Amino acid sequence: MPITSRSTRALLKPGTKLMGMVKAFSYGSGSFEIANLLQFHGVDYLAVAYADEGVELRRAGITMPIMVMNPEPSTFDAILQWNLEPEIYSMHLLSQLEEEIRAANKTNYPVHIKLDTGMHRLGFEKKDIPELARQLKEHGYFQVKSIFSHLAGSEDPKMDKFTKKQGDLFREMSAELQKSLGYPIIRHISNSSGIHRHPDLQFDMVRLGIGMYGVDSSPEMQAKLKNVSTLKTTVAQVKKLAPGETVGYGGKWTAKVPSVIATVRIGYADGYSRKLSNGRGKMFIRGKLAPVAGVIAMDMLMLDVTLIPDVKEGDVVIVFGEDLPVQLLAAWGETIPYEILTGISQRVKRIYFQE
Ligand SMILES: *Cc1c(COP(=O)(O)O)cnc(C)c1O
Repeated sequence: MPITSRSTRALLKPGTKLMGMVKAFSYGSGSFEIANLLQFHGVDYLAVAYADEGVELRRAGITMPIMVMNPEPSTFDAILQWNLEPEIYSMHLLSQLEEEIRAANKTNYPVHIKLDTGMHRLGFEKKDIPELARQLKEHGYFQVKSIFSHLAGSEDPKMDKFTKKQGDLFREMSAELQKSLGYPIIRHISNSSGIHRHPDLQFDMVRLGIGMYGVDSSPEMQAKLKNVSTLKTTVAQVKKLAPGETVGYGGKWTAKVPSVIATVRIGYADGYSRKLSNGRGKMFIRGKLAPVAGVIAMDMLMLDVTLIPDVKEGDVVIVFGEDLPVQLLAAWGETIPYEILTGISQRVKRIYFQE
């Protein structure tokens, strides 16, 4: 991890702040462990999706600022109690938070203002800015820590024109809000691929997500990143099948020749999609790729290891990692690395190595 955040630092203009995205169990890597490392390395901000994720980090001893991107009004009391910093994206949410801050006898509460520059997910629009600025200033309940927006296609050359438009609109809207509020506010719009593909959009801070976990959608950038996580399991049993015998639920795979099948300890309950059944997915075993045979079960699946000599009980099986990029697995499952990483269930044990 320090390696990847270091290669990102090298891409940043001097003075640009860094927000580490640790939502969704830190993209499956373990919230506290990653947050703690980022805190140690002096990253400026953390961001989570939901208040619960922030509370968990605070309980575990994380003291640095944490932005909550999707705060529900029912979690505002927890947000205030644990000094979390909510993203505000609508007037309604702002007034609900104001009530909570007033009731708690607080002032100057840190918030982050989300602008919609074209993604059309969450955020204020240009026409909302004057009223927003008025509300933010009125009773001194809020202190705006940052103004931000999100790029809809920073990794995609076909969207570069759209990205530029988002950047221009963001520059304009954030300047208007900043001017009305009259104090310095951090501006940020770039995610991982924005950092290297659109250096002109770094503004005051960038939000590093998947890049920190060693994954990028461009081959050039990927080559500069180090593999961060490996998902491994082991062979539980090896079986010899005669032609005509079938494997797994529904007998969906039939041995055409004398075959060797390895039963492996991972299933769809661990986040290995059932879509990867019957040869779509492959795993790395004894230095070779073995296809999935039959349908994936909840806790196990079978690999066809007929062409791989000497597979034995207890052999290590690589699901993804250095030799089997998560991008490849994502392509086989018709998804993106984000979904694979965040879909690995909590029962899969995470082990950390420090260099
Ligand atoms: C998840 C997220 C990011 C990080 O995106 P990556 O592509 O993983 O770098 C940045 N900003 C927002 C608002 C997000 O939700």
